[in-house]
Amino acid sequence: MRDGRPFDLAGRVVLVTGASSGLGERFARICANSGARVALAARRVDRLESLCVELGAETAMAVPLDVVDEASTIAAYDAIAARFGPVDSIIANAGITASSLALDMPIEEFDRVTGVNLRGVFLTAREGARRMIAAGSATREHGRIVVISSITANVASKGLSAYSASKAGVLHLGRILALEWARKGINVNMILPGYIATEMNGDFFATEAGQREIAKMTRRRLMREDDLEAMVLFLASDAARAVTGSAFTIDDGQSL
Ligand code: NAP
Repeated sequence: MRDGRPFDLAGRVVLVTGASSGLGERFARICANSGARVALAARRVDRLESLCVELGAETAMAVPLDVVDEASTIAAYDAIAARFGPVDSIIANAGITASSLALDMPIEEFDRVTGVNLRGVFLTAREGARRMIAAGSATREHGRIVVISSITANVASKGLSAYSASKAGVLHLGRILALEWARKGINVNMILPGYIATEMNGDFFATEAGQREIAKMTRRRLMREDDLEAMVLFLASDAARAVTGSAFTIDDGQSL
């Protein structure tokens, strides 16, 4: 245990996609605090570099990454390998949302959201798994992939067709990857968080309509970023040896 954290990531190299804000930034901090060396990946590299300064150059590196782009994904893993060595744990967190009703949604918006949230997770996981396998994960049984889905994978909400479908998509994608890679020493698990105020939705929750949505929630509140910490650390660590293909809803009862 390190600084009161329950799961030790010492010796692990962890890639966090979408580490330039919100949950990803938080996940990067807690992984670093639990002993991992952390590759911070996103498009806004200036933000990643600021976080690297805070975490220290021995612990963190900034990696430019557009998860939709296969060449960018390969280049990101190459950069991590050159500096920190093979990646042991991946937090596939990068995501975007959109809130048009389906009848009004331009197809470009549908493609953009599913591109980042579904294709992006596939590319991140597939390239990561190829490298884990090449680095001996079948013998070491240490590969960990954590996919950040959403309660909207299971709950139908108007205006979230592209987002929810992509989050349901990664839920099942993750199960299949878990099955395909089970004998290759790679565990793939999904987390379905409830609503937490971040750059993705903070403006909305500050509006009257947003406040009304919060008032309808089971506990009439949003979750906090730190509500996900223990599960992320557990699934990224050795302790999750026998956990794969599983989905964990952490939503403060929001989907009840
Ligand atoms: P956020 O603050 O908007 O963060 C999204 C992150 O994704 C940013 O770091 C962004 O970085 C990155 N990203 C977006 N497009 C990308 C691309 N093409 N390539 C690489 N990185 C990209 O939102 P958040 O709430 O922390 O969301 C993180 C994850 O949690 C998402 O998958 C989201 O769906 C999920 N989630 C959030 C909530 C919630 O209530 N907040 C609930 C359930 C699930 P750049 O723009 O710098 O690339």
